Amino acid sequence: MTDLPSFDWPEFLPGWVWLVGAGPGDPGLLTLHALHALRQADVVVYDALVEPRILDWAPGAERVYAGKRGGKPSPSQRDISLRLVELAREGKRVLRLKGGDPFVFGRGGEEGQTLVEHGVPIRIVPGISAGIGGLAYAGIPVTHRDVNQSVTFVTGHDQTGQTPSSLDWRAIARASEVIVIYMGLKHAAQIAGELMAAGRGASEPVAIVTDATTPRQAVVETILGSLPEEAAKVEPPAIICIGRNVLLRQVLDWREGVRRLDPLGTRGRIESA
Ligand code: SAH
Repeated sequence: MTDLPSFDWPEFLPGWVWLVGAGPGDPGLLTLHALHALRQADVVVYDALVEPRILDWAPGAERVYAGKRGGKPSPSQRDISLRLVELAREGKRVLRLKGGDPFVFGRGGEEGQTLVEHGVPIRIVPGISAGIGGLAYAGIPVTHRDVNQSVTFVTGHDQTGQTPSSLDWRAIARASEVIVIYMGLKHAAQIAGELMAAGRGASEPVAIVTDATTPRQAVVETILGSLPEEAAKVEPPAIICIGRNVLLRQVLDWREGVRRLDPLGTRGRIESA
């Protein structure tokens, strides 16, 4: 490849499918492997959450849209997977481009399984997931020594689009100080209720980050008790982050500026640690 740093770049061979993460939006958050793949692909099969400007980096490739269109339901997962098999069997270099990371709530695993079952060779190119990179663009670190030693990533939908009632919300509430919810807007009220019933405080800090890393990014800072009404006011895609790490945005919101230097009141101790 001409203008990428010299490296032993893997060749995108005809008949292969690469499952590639596009990151949360900002095209600068693509990996170099993703860029390399875009430049070689014959066809790009992309989702609704992929920032359109990224497709311009694959000028030679045919574009196949695999998301919802004009309110119509999205094609079934099986249809998408089988279309990938078909394109690969036509001898194309097939780039399956998914928002964020293909293996994080992205059904990349399912698509990979179908491809492998049909004898189609695959490569996985990870991407920056919205629940990490999207929060970073809002000035929220998913972990911080003064807040949490673990983080729980949860989906607010199950396979049928319902609240994942099969989830053990009590265990989730207790497991980590910080909970990051994907696809959580629709069932925010129920989720907040379950977490509070399990002992999480109504005054606990919460951030809702919509369209993270895009020019449309917006952040609502609220508390768990107000999550239902705040979630009802915004449109997807949104990441919901629950935990005291949200307070660090007051100092780390590098896009909007500093409001407060020591929101946790722990700097004196930390400096000497
Ligand atoms: N594979 C993706 C997640 C796909 S599930 C990843 O790793 O990021 C889709 C959900 O991801 C959305 O409902 C939303 O919760 C979250 N999401 C993806 N992109 C986002 C963005 N730019 N801003 C906020 N949330 C986003």
